[in-house]
Amino acid sequence: MKASELYAPTLRESPAEAELLSHKLMFRAGLIRKAAGGMYSYLPLAWRTMKKIMQIIREEMDAKGGQELMMPITQPAEIWKESGRWAVYGDEMMRLKDRHGREFCLGPTHEEMITTLIRGEVRSHKQLPLMLYQIQNKYRDEIRPRFGLMRSREFVMKDLYSFDKDRDGMNISYEKMYDAYSRIFSRCGLKFRAVEADNGAIGGGHSHEFTVLAPSGESSIAYCENCDYAASDEKAELKIITAEAEELKPIEKVSTPNAHTIELVKNFLGVPIEKTIKAVAFQDDDGRLILAFVRGDHEVNEIKVLNAVEGALHLHMAEESAINAVGSCAGFMSPIGLKSGAIIVVDATVMEMYNAVAGANEVDAHFINVTPKRDFDAEKIIVADIRMVQAGDPCPHCGAKLKMTRGIEVGQVFTLGNKYSKSLNATFLDENGKETFFEMGCYGIGVGRTMAAAIEQNNDKDGIIWTRAISPFEVVVVPVNAKDPAQLDYAEKIYDELKNSGVDTLLDDRKERAGVKFKDCDLIGYPLRVTVSPKTLDSGLVEIKVRRSGEIFNFGRADCVEKIVELLKNL
Ligand code: ATP
Ligand code: MG
Repeated sequence: MKASELYAPTLRESPAEAELLSHKLMFRAGLIRKAAGGMYSYLPLAWRTMKKIMQIIREEMDAKGGQELMMPITQPAEIWKESGRWAVYGDEMMRLKDRHGREFCLGPTHEEMITTLIRGEVRSHKQLPLMLYQIQNKYRDEIRPRFGLMRSREFVMKDLYSFDKDRDGMNISYEKMYDAYSRIFSRCGLKFRAVEADNGAIGGGHSHEFTVLAPSGESSIAYCENCDYAASDEKAELKIITAEAEELKPIEKVSTPNAHTIELVKNFLGVPIEKTIKAVAFQDDDGRLILAFVRGDHEVNEIKVLNAVEGALHLHMAEESAINAVGSCAGFMSPIGLKSGAIIVVDATVMEMYNAVAGANEVDAHFINVTPKRDFDAEKIIVADIRMVQAGDPCPHCGAKLKMTRGIEVGQVFTLGNKYSKSLNATFLDENGKETFFEMGCYGIGVGRTMAAAIEQNNDKDGIIWTRAISPFEVVVVPVNAKDPAQLDYAEKIYDELKNSGVDTLLDDRKERAGVKFKDCDLIGYPLRVTVSPKTLDSGLVEIKVRRSGEIFNFGRADCVEKIVELLKNL
């Protein structure tokens, strides 16, 4: 390909709204243009990279027995009503009606579609396992589309669905996909961790998020450097922290004027924060009051609270009136002496505390010498791990101190069990001729988000630094003065030889100043630049610049192509 014919409009400035480096760089390097909030055109350079990512994905999916197909993006409402998700999915789903008034959506995901596709046709256990996937646009009307391709409303996703005859089979499919994902992101040259994740709305068995480590990431993850444990902060399981046993003192109510926060209480009473118990009051969609108690220096993890309370779907901050109705008041809550009506969830670590400070359920008063094991009514409370992980917490696998980092979720793997086969009534006949629900899994990768994450992880002040595997071109050959026929001719020959050696090469034959061309090369970030200058013509030495390290090599004309091919292997 010749740069004079390539549509890659580079710019000096990025759009004002672009907050994230990858967004700015993709815009400036002529990779993307915005059509509407969260909707982008992928220009030729971006699409070349995305096609390379998709090719890697296809190879790895196929290697595990995946078969590619293509389902409609537009999905009839009926199948979503059947599974019960039409009502649940909410405003994120883009809905439309056809001319007859029939309801449809633009697929945010395809569990319903694929399950109803195979339902009635895959009838025998002998047809299992089955792994089907597609790569296509998905639609989610995100509340805040932002960060360019990271969180858009229309995006390219690979989604694979596995069907197995039993749990063991499902787990084998899961392992296969886990392995394929590790290979995909390694081949893309990304630093990532497979993070134990919360299953979110999809429900069922276990899940991992493949997370690219980058400070700009939206997810916060806890990981261990001593073993391979990694989990999202929402999910990270925590060990119970036990305190040294103390002699139990009698509980006592003390006056704590205006001390309505844990900071104020601890200062007023002069106790360490680890000796205080703090409360957060929620209400769920049904208006039920849920009081969560953690140690003063800990934070409540709402997801864990949701998981601990049966039937709770969402949590909102509680109304003061609801707190008053159970005989307490905001800022001074504790489980001791409450009227009935509240669901009380106590963090397991709180149950190990001795002689602690807790609210007295009246304004400006606290209890001291509270020992939850003695003072909380075990019958009326739920004890669970409900706190948020913090740096330094012990690793649940090996006990070493956990670290926290940020990351970008580029892919997720889920076991679904028979959640969808049951709600959509999809069965097959097992070995004994018995109707059995499929055991399913689903596995997604965001192609655009993967490209953006690669840029977040690989850039410098001059622009993007692609790894060879996903670079729009592997090598750019630049005659510094393309108006000089001798230079252009020399460059073209190298370009032809590289292409004949199977290297994806761009010839920058634009009649621009050398400075402009070099700047564009750095901005777009091709792994290798081959420069042809008057010096090259004189000396027969070809200059090669490695984008990532800035190293410069001068190779003799005769074997330069061979050496470039060699260099590329490590990029
Ligand atoms: P998030 O938590 O970031 O909203 P998700 O967990 O809802 O994502 P999945 O349903 O697991 O996303 O989708 C699979 C993959 O699709 C994600 O790992 C991500 O790479 C990509 N993806 C999801 N939502 C978007 C989006 N709005 N824009 C771009 N890519 C997305
Ligand atoms: Mg996800």
